[in-house]
Amino acid sequence: MSASKKCPNCGQWSRWNQNPTDRCEHCQSILDPVAVARQQAREERRKEEEERFSIKLIEVDPEDPWYTRFFKRIGLGLQIAFVSVISFILWLIALLAG
Ligand SMILES: [Zn+2]
Repeated sequence: MSASKKCPNCGQWSRWNQNPTDRCEHCQSILDPVAVARQQAREERRKEEEERFSIKLIEVDPEDPWYTRFFKRIGLGLQIAFVSVISFILWLIALLAG
């Protein structure tokens, strides 16, 4: 069953499946701009959270001199240790929250 919604742009009634992406049959403008904005905000927040927890690991290049490789390996080790600790804390939080 589909509902109808009055287009905020041209004022004509248009078929509406309650999707935020539904567009007016007459002028092609978005029928529910508030829902679209809300969905975009949610999407952006999700992306930000993903970026916060993803760390770019150091790449050890075999062409680097030995001391560079040495320090990069230490850095990489620290990064991996850090990621492990963070994952452990997140796991613990999830466990305690559940
Ligand atoms: Zn319209």
